[in-house]
Amino acid sequence: MRRPFVAGNWKLHRGPGQARPLAKALRTQLMDVEHVDLAVFPPDLSIAEVVAVLADTTLQVGVQQVTAQVEGAYTARTSAAHARAAGCGRALVGHSEVRRDLGVTDAHVHAATRAALSHGLLPVICLGETLEERDADLVTEVLLRQLTGALGDLHPDEVATCTLAYEPVWAIGTGRTASPEQAQAAHEVLRQALTERYPAFVADQTRILYGGSVKPNNAAALMAMPDVDGALVGGASLDPDAFSAIVAAC
Ligand code: PEP
Repeated sequence: MRRPFVAGNWKLHRGPGQARPLAKALRTQLMDVEHVDLAVFPPDLSIAEVVAVLADTTLQVGVQQVTAQVEGAYTARTSAAHARAAGCGRALVGHSEVRRDLGVTDAHVHAATRAALSHGLLPVICLGETLEERDADLVTEVLLRQLTGALGDLHPDEVATCTLAYEPVWAIGTGRTASPEQAQAAHEVLRQALTERYPAFVADQTRILYGGSVKPNNAAALMAMPDVDGALVGGASLDPDAFSAIVAAC
């Protein structure tokens, strides 16, 4: 059995000073959760504050993106080594907003995945099609291309420590959630690819989260799907009651 995993992507919300109250509320509400892995991804400048609040809890803190470069003359990048030193345990990789806004390619996603793994951060690799790609019946093709690009030649043991997050671009921040059946179909494509490409333990252990307008009222139906192992939550993760309700649904 894969352990459920719920992660909150705060995006560019809750800067220093605003992050502490949200982290404290999550700490109070989720401290006793035992059956679900939990993580939050605050903006970079709030990481220290959130790490301090969540220090003695099982809620992990992650960084929203890392680059391949670890140190040097690389202005405005985020180093996996620095994120680890700051107390992060996970890294989001290839979020569609990063792919869209920063010109991040599949090759960059692979390099970031490698950098995260090399510095002790567990990657959460985001994949998903645009509406145009869905309408053109390209969901499987896009997911397999992004999966291959992200994982590249990683060792099976490394792949099994990664989490995949299926996030259809048309569902992110739109209030338009994939149906449980659409999510399951996409997760099945990813699980099947892992089964074909790696030893059996990889497909058995690798968690595949669904992300895209997950809310308390749709989480349980999504989580009931056999290949949906948890959720990557954007907007609703800024509301501690909503995020806790989603965790409860898992
Ligand atoms: C996200 O940013 O990863 C996300 C899923 O956002 P939302 O839940 O707001 O759609």
